[in-house]
Amino acid sequence: MFKSIRWKFIIIYFLLVFMAMIIIGVFLMQQFERYHLGVVSNNLSNLANTVITSLEAIDWQNNPNEVENNIRNYEQMGMGITVIKNDTNFTVVFSTNASYMGENGEANATHFLESDLILAAFNGEVEEKDIIRQDNKLNSSKHMVFPIRSDDNHVAGAVYLKGNLEDIYKTLQESQIIILKATFLALFITIILGYFIAKSITGPIKDVTVKAERMAQGDFEQIVEIRSDDEIGQLADMFNYLTAKLKTVLQEMSNEKQKMDTIIEYMADGLIAATKEGQIIHINSKALEMLGIDEEVCAAENFDQLFTSYDDRFKIEKFLEKEEDWSGNKIIDINNESILQASYAPFMDQNGDIEGIIILLQDVTEHQKLENMRKEFVANVSHELKTPLTTIKSYTETLLDGIIDDRDLSINFLQVVDSETERMARLVRDLLQLSGLDFQQSKWNKKAVDLRKIIEEIILKLDVSVKNKKQRVYLNLNDLKEDDTIIYADKDRIGQAILNLLGNSIKYTPEGGHIKIDICIREDKLILGIEDNGIGIPEKDLERIFERFYRVDKARARELGGTGLGLSIAKEIIEAHEGTIEIFSQEGKGTKTVIRLPIFMAVDV
Ligand code: ATP
Ligand code: MG
Repeated sequence: MFKSIRWKFIIIYFLLVFMAMIIIGVFLMQQFERYHLGVVSNNLSNLANTVITSLEAIDWQNNPNEVENNIRNYEQMGMGITVIKNDTNFTVVFSTNASYMGENGEANATHFLESDLILAAFNGEVEEKDIIRQDNKLNSSKHMVFPIRSDDNHVAGAVYLKGNLEDIYKTLQESQIIILKATFLALFITIILGYFIAKSITGPIKDVTVKAERMAQGDFEQIVEIRSDDEIGQLADMFNYLTAKLKTVLQEMSNEKQKMDTIIEYMADGLIAATKEGQIIHINSKALEMLGIDEEVCAAENFDQLFTSYDDRFKIEKFLEKEEDWSGNKIIDINNESILQASYAPFMDQNGDIEGIIILLQDVTEHQKLENMRKEFVANVSHELKTPLTTIKSYTETLLDGIIDDRDLSINFLQVVDSETERMARLVRDLLQLSGLDFQQSKWNKKAVDLRKIIEEIILKLDVSVKNKKQRVYLNLNDLKEDDTIIYADKDRIGQAILNLLGNSIKYTPEGGHIKIDICIREDKLILGIEDNGIGIPEKDLERIFERFYRVDKARARELGGTGLGLSIAKEIIEAHEGTIEIFSQEGKGTKTVIRLPIFMAVDV
């Protein structure tokens, strides 16, 4: 309780007033005492002069009775007058105090009175002495002696006056009590006043303290009432300013944090932050999804457990071994399902010491897949070119070796060279076409064309192959009228795609098989189905069938002159016409290709 400023104020005020009162009291009492003693001295001096004058008029040394008569006139209450003769016995001629005169009228003054004073008087001096009784000041007295000179200026005796100081000390004692009472009253008033003054100062401070405490708990709606424009008022004003400023700064910070949280939460990459003790301090939902764990599991785990099943290099203890290990890049294979690239770096505290680690996870599965496809593509192209080139080289070498003279064999050889060159030229043409489609450099010559007519032309073109394989081709138009099969398309390109599909059906359907072509309209789409009862495509290959160079049975397809680019070109062409292409197949039973194309509407042109 006494630690509070309020009590300190009160105690300081109390001590100040207390000391002031003590100093004033002591000073006053001393002045009083001195003044009153001075007054007594004056009175005694006046009385002595009167007594001495009256004594000088008589033969005082030898007439004690006359002396008594004279002195009785001047006798006052509380005052003793003694007349002493200057003889060897210091004889008391007369004293108002009867006990000083002795039983037979002869007494030695030094026995009752101050001998040093008497001696001083006999030396012609006026002397005084205060006898203060410390045990009881009321019994104190003032002693004064005055020499009585004879006519020849010789000191004949002395008048010894003794003044009682009882009245003075009584007055002084009363004054002391008054001052004491005044001191108590002043101290009481000081305590009351001090309490209120201290309260007026500590009240606002307490108010600020309470509100600061609430602010510390997060409530920034605190306003301190300004009651004055002094330093305390300024403190309150400053506090209010600080609160407002703090509120805006915190609001801004919280907005920034919220923004950051949202960015981190919705970013396409996973983000994990952990302390160097391994405690996970942040993990966004993308990271949880990438690592295939849920939030509750993650909350229970520490950093090392997160990665143990995928990569044992991701451990805090491993990082702690070498400082440079805290940053870098690593590829993590998540159960062969996805591939993640982890870029990690440490974050530091104010002293530059490592505080923890931040890991950014990027899903590079697609990227890796594309990379693999690119490598596969280059390998495929090289391989496809190498085979005919080797054939051409070996045939030309044989020709150069002398076979050229054998005309029939030479023609045979040159026919092989020609067909291989044709095959290479076709491959390069297909690749160029694909790259043109990829980079959208192809120029489309789109017009309203009749799909039925295109199909009929292709059937005609393929008639020889069909007949060679003794196959049958059926075209079912499902009662579609003349104009119903009109589409807005590049005739040659669409023709090329359909030619490949029909060509495939013929190629991969054994002799005597049949191919059914079906055209109908469903939900504003023209649907073209090409179905054969050929060798079919195994289910595992179906999903990759549109990839470049993908062939189910490479050797067989090559034998049949296929490069595996036909379907990927067809898909690009159909998609460029805002259509879709799907292949359904059962191994050994047959294949059905379904193409959906938008119907031509006159306004489209
Ligand atoms: P290209 O068309 O370039 O001359 P290709 O016909 O071999 O060569 P695609 O048309 O892309 O290539 O066909 C890819 C593969 O899909 C073929 O090699 C074949 O294995 C399979 N395939 C396509 N159509 C059929 C079908 N109707 N029946 C059985 N397999 C097919
Ligand atoms: Mg083909």
